[in-house]
Amino acid sequence: MALHLTIIPVTPYEQNCTLLWDDESNDAVLTDVGGNAPEIWQYIQDNHLNLKEIWLTHGHLDHVGGVVKMCELIDVPVMGPHEDDLFLLEDLANKTREYAKYGFEFSPNFLPTRWLQEGEQLKLGNYVFDVLHIPGHTPGHVVFYCASEKLLIAGDTLFKESVGRTDFPRSNTQDLLNAIRTKLYVLPDDVVVIPGHRDTTTIGHEKQHNPHVRA
Ligand SMILES: [Zn+2]
Ligand SMILES: [Zn+2]
Repeated sequence: MALHLTIIPVTPYEQNCTLLWDDESNDAVLTDVGGNAPEIWQYIQDNHLNLKEIWLTHGHLDHVGGVVKMCELIDVPVMGPHEDDLFLLEDLANKTREYAKYGFEFSPNFLPTRWLQEGEQLKLGNYVFDVLHIPGHTPGHVVFYCASEKLLIAGDTLFKESVGRTDFPRSNTQDLLNAIRTKLYVLPDDVVVIPGHRDTTTIGHEKQHNPHVRA
């Protein structure tokens, strides 16, 4: 019995949409469905997985732009992000229309089934994920941490030797660095971090080598 995952880069920004599944039940969740919903749905069907939920880290279009289309293909609950990202979801139709010239798919606005908060837990089969609120890149950014599997779905908070951009409306650099120090750098060094873009890393590697935030 094991937790499996596959990373599916989506949208022109190659956002790391991640499909996680429990190989005992074949129950699955998708994180950050930014786009490419039909392809992802095909992969889920080809592998005989039971998609149970969609989990969202934050409201940027490359992370949420495929949610409405995915829910048309299979109607599952959408969990997160934190309610402080409501302003982004309310602007999604505008944003995806504006970014069509960069190759983004249009998405109507939507609301999640449920907003998430610090300290909540989400379940996938036998696995429990803690919800941590890491504001700064966006005010309502959350991450998903599975302690038993030492896995962190980090969205655009912590990257390999980098951190999320904080030059957006309602971003806050100090909030981001504080939250990384106090909530992520306290996790075990061998926790694998799947960021929203590019390569995976570990907490230990970032504590030593991240030029923006050292332990
Ligand atoms: Zn983002
Ligand atoms: Zn992103």
